[in-house]
Amino acid sequence: MSTVDAAVVGSGPNGLAAAVTLARAGLRVAVHEAADTLGGGLRGAALFDPDIHHDVCAAVHPMAAASRFFRAFDLATRDVELLHAPIAYAHPLDGGPAALAHRELDATAAELGADGQRWQRLMAPLVARTTEVTDLLLSGMRRPTGLRAAPALLPRVLRHGTPWATGAFRGERAPALLAGAAAHAVGPLPSLPGAAIGLLMAHLAHTTGWPLPRGGSRRVAEAMADDIRAHGGTLHTGHAITDLRELSEARAVLLDVSPTALLAMGGDALPRRYARALARYRYGPAAGKADFLVSEPIPWADPAVGRAGTVHLGGPAPAIHRQETANARGLATGTPFVLVVDPAVTDPSRARPGRRPVWAYAHLPPGDERDPLPLVRAAIERYAPGFTDTILAQRGVSGAELARYNANYVGGDIGTGAVTLRQSVLRPAARVDPYRTPLPGVYLCSAATPPGPGVHGMCGLLAARSALRREFGLPLPALGPDRTAVTP
Ligand SMILES: Cc1cc2nc3c(=O)[nH]c(=O)nc-3n(C[C@H](O)[C@H](O)[C@H](O)COP(=O)(O)OP(=O)(O)OC[C@H]3O[C@@H](n4cnc5c(N)ncnc54)[C@H](O)[C@@H]3O)c2cc1C
Repeated sequence: MSTVDAAVVGSGPNGLAAAVTLARAGLRVAVHEAADTLGGGLRGAALFDPDIHHDVCAAVHPMAAASRFFRAFDLATRDVELLHAPIAYAHPLDGGPAALAHRELDATAAELGADGQRWQRLMAPLVARTTEVTDLLLSGMRRPTGLRAAPALLPRVLRHGTPWATGAFRGERAPALLAGAAAHAVGPLPSLPGAAIGLLMAHLAHTTGWPLPRGGSRRVAEAMADDIRAHGGTLHTGHAITDLRELSEARAVLLDVSPTALLAMGGDALPRRYARALARYRYGPAAGKADFLVSEPIPWADPAVGRAGTVHLGGPAPAIHRQETANARGLATGTPFVLVVDPAVTDPSRARPGRRPVWAYAHLPPGDERDPLPLVRAAIERYAPGFTDTILAQRGVSGAELARYNANYVGGDIGTGAVTLRQSVLRPAARVDPYRTPLPGVYLCSAATPPGPGVHGMCGLLAARSALRREFGLPLPALGPDRTAVTP
């Protein structure tokens, strides 16, 4: 293996963010990816029809639209167009109109009846400070930025992260909107991490939005890979790194891998205490992915849902809280929380006449081996009778199979680690610098480090910042496409 300054293992959004940052700092960087295609959670494929592209993992990008890494990287100037549906996300409910999170806060509140003013009061201060809110929650909490958002954010997280949360609203729709957003934490609800993530996601619907990249998530990975190559980096696919000694010529090694993989790759070289902490690291519930090729838009009973980029299926907030809590405890139920995206609603280029993709996944217990298709179909059918008749082709990927597709999804956990209160900050272990391992020059940069899951690139950026400073004495470089671009 040729000599490089930095080797990055894994090409998910965090590995690529780390490699972009290191290459732009002037280092010789090599990325090593186990799969045959780059991108990790950003990968896609023509699953059923050569003209119809499916996102295999991530599809919707509220965090990529807002995070400090991607603001500096500036996807728009790299030919990655972030497209918005008229409604950011919808939440159908039995026997009444769906709850709708419009881009405009006022329009959303206007449809929430007596809870409209409460939604306004909850969201308006966060919307007013959206950059700080996002920066604070995605800062990893070591050198927090966006602290000016704390007075607005903290009381709201405390209020909505406790069992008294449900008393905050009178009707069904506003709490459903918030519970659906909080369910992105994939853990027991209500909880403090769930409230923080819920408020982040819900308020982003009213600011930078929940966009889909034109052509699919792979476009984000391609733009990042192009930037790495443009700065002299190399990218290698189809080989899993199983032992850190394979990379001994690199001065710094950044690992976009799970703590379990780090344990295996480090072997006896890892100090016992750190190895024990990695072994104690907790993974969360699984996702069961369902992909469909359908003949027409999803026939939602409430047609307004058909204008939403993302749809949450789980019923009223108390039902979601019960379901997510049981699921996190490993109790399988027949009605999991399901997320559904009909990408062509936002990006018509994804459809052909009579053929369009549908992306969905269900929250399932850790390691779940069930085929998620019947569960997902039933969840959609409940709010869109006749959906099953539109299916031309389908495939289900259980949590256990997802783990085989990407080693970072241990037991099907797409967050690479449970988002508990402890693991929100002390991720993967209790260390001042969570990215730095005790092994000289070796850093962890995956979603198993703060700020955790999602396509935001912040784990990669913060790990690269640490490696640049400690190993090379270098500051963070500018990440934008031209010289005027700001440093993140
Ligand atoms: C079904 C599904 C839906 C999702 N939906 C969304 C969404 O809509 N929006 C969103 O923001 N997030 C979503 N996510 C989560 C998001 O994809 C992840 O949080 C994100 O990809 C994590 O990035 P990462 O770089 O840490 O790891 P990953 O993206 O998982 O990438 C890790 C990479 O490292 C490689 N690797 C691992 N071990 C080795 C090794 N030993 N040697 C070489 N390579 C290795 C893997 O093959 C993989 O390519 C979804 C995930 C899934 C699975």
